[in-house]
Amino acid sequence: MPAAYNIRSQFPVLSQTINGRLLVFLDSAATTQKPLCVIETMNDFYRTHYSSVKRGAYALSAKTSQKFEEARSKVAKFIDAPSENTIIFTKGTTESINLVAQTNCKPGDEVLLSALEHHANIVPWQIAGAKIKVLPCDDNGDLQISKLSALLHEKTKIVALTHIANSIGTVVPLQDIIPTVRKLAPQAKILIDAAQGAPHSKISVKDLDCDFLAFSGHKIYGPTGVGILYGKSEVLESMPPWQGGGEMIEQVSFERTSFAPPPARFEAGTPPIAEVLGLSTAIDWVNEIGMGNILAHEERITAYALSELQKINGLQVIGNPKNRGAIISFVINQIHPHDTAMILDEEGVAVRAGHHCAQPVMERFGVPATVRASFAAYTNEWEVDSLCLGLKRVVSIFGK
Ligand SMILES: *Cc1c(COP(=O)(O)O)cnc(C)c1O
Repeated sequence: MPAAYNIRSQFPVLSQTINGRLLVFLDSAATTQKPLCVIETMNDFYRTHYSSVKRGAYALSAKTSQKFEEARSKVAKFIDAPSENTIIFTKGTTESINLVAQTNCKPGDEVLLSALEHHANIVPWQIAGAKIKVLPCDDNGDLQISKLSALLHEKTKIVALTHIANSIGTVVPLQDIIPTVRKLAPQAKILIDAAQGAPHSKISVKDLDCDFLAFSGHKIYGPTGVGILYGKSEVLESMPPWQGGGEMIEQVSFERTSFAPPPARFEAGTPPIAEVLGLSTAIDWVNEIGMGNILAHEERITAYALSELQKINGLQVIGNPKNRGAIISFVINQIHPHDTAMILDEEGVAVRAGHHCAQPVMERFGVPATVRASFAAYTNEWEVDSLCLGLKRVVSIFGK
């Protein structure tokens, strides 16, 4: 892997100064910055071959349609899916999960979630009327897998789990959990929220043997407004449509409509074309650097950050999971996380403060909010040093 510094230089946003200092962007779990190649793909699309997909018989549209479908194949390969027809383009992880909840869950159906879920993997099930059960986590923030057997039974309809907890960084051992679910509740469908997993680890939906997997383009160096829903072929084929409109039909009359096979059945209306093409380039970019290299780099940065943060007076890291992604959540004594984030911002260090769309996790650990630092392929050690210097200033201002 090229040095992270060289990677950083490919991200135009990161070359600016904030309050006279080079921006230190440590909020990649919320969204990642974009490399120039992604920005240029979208720019080039609008400048030189902008057109819709699927409909046009003319040359521009044919070219765009081809690139659009190439993107679908690329995503399929990226997550080791058996066919491009298992890949649905959505707006993002949130929409992917809502699609599955609305088409697979009736009021009263039982859904098992984990204690580590993002609101995007809680609220859609509540809206669908699910009866929700929760797999708890221990004080380290690891899921208590031994409790699965008491929670799963023949009525479990769906098991929906995060791959990596966006709030405290736990990597969930899906390779242990999924076979257990298959054994104890073979009828249950399994959905993986890979919003944090896909950008930071190699995923094989074949090896995982999940029914659904969701992630967002904007957290994996791609644009906002596009996300992925993978579904097993036979599962997608058995699902009714969700939204109705153009492009998802076979034939329409005022009396009756027949629906197109997946993935078209679930892609009503004009898709986010520029965003899909941008995501396609983002995946090329990740493949070029190599997911293994990105993961190794982020593990190094995270280990370094963890050891440096723990040297700061009164700082308490929330959660100590066996396996941690590129995310560290912490609190410092009685200092409010928002005050910490504001002081850091004065130094050009961008971190997230709040509940991270995971209020049940905050409640589990008895804190209203945390400061969260999260890392990506472009993060350097000196940025961790800037964070720690800033935190020492926070302690000297607010600490007693
Ligand atoms: C960000 C995130 C989501 C929601 O993704 P959107 O892009 O906002 O739809 C869901 N789950 C996890 C774990 C996330 O980090």
